[in-house]
Amino acid sequence: MSPPNGPKILDCLRVTVNDVLSRYRQSQPAADEISEHDLYLSPHFDDICFSLGAYVGHRRQGILLTVFSTSTYVAKPDDPRVASGDRQALVSALRCAEDLTFAQEVGLRQITASFDEAPIRGRDIFDTGSSVEDAATLNRKLFDAIMAADCDRQAGLRPWLYCPMGIGGHVDHVTILRIVMSNYDALRAAYRIAYYEDLFYAADWPARISGLNRFRAIVAPLQLRRSYHLIDDIQYKLKLVRLYESQFVEPPTTIAPFTPAQYFSTPAHEAIWTVE
Ligand SMILES: [Zn+2]
Repeated sequence: MSPPNGPKILDCLRVTVNDVLSRYRQSQPAADEISEHDLYLSPHFDDICFSLGAYVGHRRQGILLTVFSTSTYVAKPDDPRVASGDRQALVSALRCAEDLTFAQEVGLRQITASFDEAPIRGRDIFDTGSSVEDAATLNRKLFDAIMAADCDRQAGLRPWLYCPMGIGGHVDHVTILRIVMSNYDALRAAYRIAYYEDLFYAADWPARISGLNRFRAIVAPLQLRRSYHLIDDIQYKLKLVRLYESQFVEPPTTIAPFTPAQYFSTPAHEAIWTVE
């Protein structure tokens, strides 16, 4: 169950028991209550599609807020579309266009916060520890961006806010989680908060175990419950994923990287966690 330098057996057991239980629990309210005001926090262009593409494709309402939308990353370094000129502007525009296609396909309204992604800030993307300092630096700016994302909404509504769990340890994902938790009471007054398993990171079993441990430490003392959402049309999710063509050397042909890894064989699904 545990490779020599992999996750501890007790952590694997705890996650496995919870994963099995989550398959047989009733769906959480987030699955049933759908609003045009639901707000999906996407660290980068592609994270909501990869992590929750089937879920949002079913719900077809809400706002997609991509936070670190200034980017220099494409899968093929010599991609001719970004080879000459201002690479940062070209890559950001190319990725934003892919994201807009996704948003239109699933009925989301796209907005961006125009934060610089980690390499532009001089960060190693997996220097997870830097998320503490980055969260302090970006706290006010992200909180304001979240509150401004849907400022026309009537008072009294509490739609869902979907936050990345930071599985995989990408500093930008963990930074968003930390900022949401730093502003938990203020955000909870405006939103009900759900946390989603980041894919493709959560498709790796050891990464998922360690990512869930980190997540539990950051959100403590909250007790959260996993909710399991079957991907009933695998080809549709793959079609959505392939809209982010600049992010692949070869288009993905299997759902394996886009479903959380489990100890027991499990149908393809996506996962969100909410307070019990
Ligand atoms: Zn990301």
